[in-house]
Amino acid sequence: MENVKTLIIGSGPAGYTAAIYLSRANLAPVLYEGIQPGGQLTTTTQIENYPGFADGIDANELMTAMRKQAENLGTTIRTGSITRVDLSSRPFRIEVEDGTEIAAESLIVATGATAKYLGLPSELKFRGQGVSACATCDGFFYRKRDVAVVGGGDTACEEATYLASLCRQVYMIVRKPYLRASQAMQQRVFDTPNIEVLFEYNTAEVLGDDMMGVTGVKVRKTDGSERTLDVAGFFLAIGHHPNTDLVAGQLELDEEGYIKVEPGTSKTSVEGVFAAGDVKDPHYRQAIAAAGSGCVAALDCERFLRK
Ligand code: NDP
Repeated sequence: MENVKTLIIGSGPAGYTAAIYLSRANLAPVLYEGIQPGGQLTTTTQIENYPGFADGIDANELMTAMRKQAENLGTTIRTGSITRVDLSSRPFRIEVEDGTEIAAESLIVATGATAKYLGLPSELKFRGQGVSACATCDGFFYRKRDVAVVGGGDTACEEATYLASLCRQVYMIVRKPYLRASQAMQQRVFDTPNIEVLFEYNTAEVLGDDMMGVTGVKVRKTDGSERTLDVAGFFLAIGHHPNTDLVAGQLELDEEGYIKVEPGTSKTSVEGVFAAGDVKDPHYRQAIAAAGSGCVAALDCERFLRK
């Protein structure tokens, strides 16, 4: 059994920032990258709202730099996923997929969140062949073609306006008679001539074939009427669910499964376990917010260890 002072699970901006702070505090953190090294950000392209980069920065470049910075300062970064954690007593027991067992005095959970899908069989069938949950990653493939975006929140509006800059026509499939997004984002959608918002519509089926991938979407209005949209791309923007399976039943979670923290801190319901980033944040979901919360978690963790 390996003993560590602090273990960080997750390699997004939250995990790396926590690692940077804990390394500088001489706490020799060990960070497990998980199944998506670099986190959700690596599925996007250019980031324009991360402070410090006047002309924006490539998302992968940013994550590579954060990783390197953590490593240079002394973090041990390991590839692999944690399969089990036991938080019932300290030190916490952690099992890694390769069989490694770790006893950790403290733990930072920065496992992020994952995009939701509708759950239609046809959607699953064409995932990666026209069905995507990341417009910024895949929008490029649909240049000058028609696409649909499902959802009425800020993400859906942002993705629709982004796609409208590349594609010929964008349909937004919104199940309510209104958008949930902020006023500014709604306005941007309504001001974009090649976005058509279909209110009170649900997706009945994603159409396509094995050769072409997605060729259309059958949508049904709440009054029962149907429409077929001839689109080549079908983008999901209906929210995310937090990656909390590992800690479910051990840490207090909210009704949507996000880790509950003491307000204004990163402290979870178990002393010595801290949460950072999207795994505890259903609202802001921004790289800079995640990085900030990684810093908070590291400082809380440092204080806990020095007690
Ligand atoms: P939201 O939860 O805000 O919106 C999800 C949307 O998807 C809603 O319109 C919802 O409809 C719809 N939806 C959910 N499930 C289904 C379903 N099964 N079928 C059809 N539609 C469905 O998620 P977002 O990802 O948009 O945003 C999450 C948070 O992140 C928000 O707080 C948002 O403000 C924030 N954000 C901020 C950004 C920024 O500041 N730049 C950018 C992106 C997000 P309904 O309304 O009916 O529930």
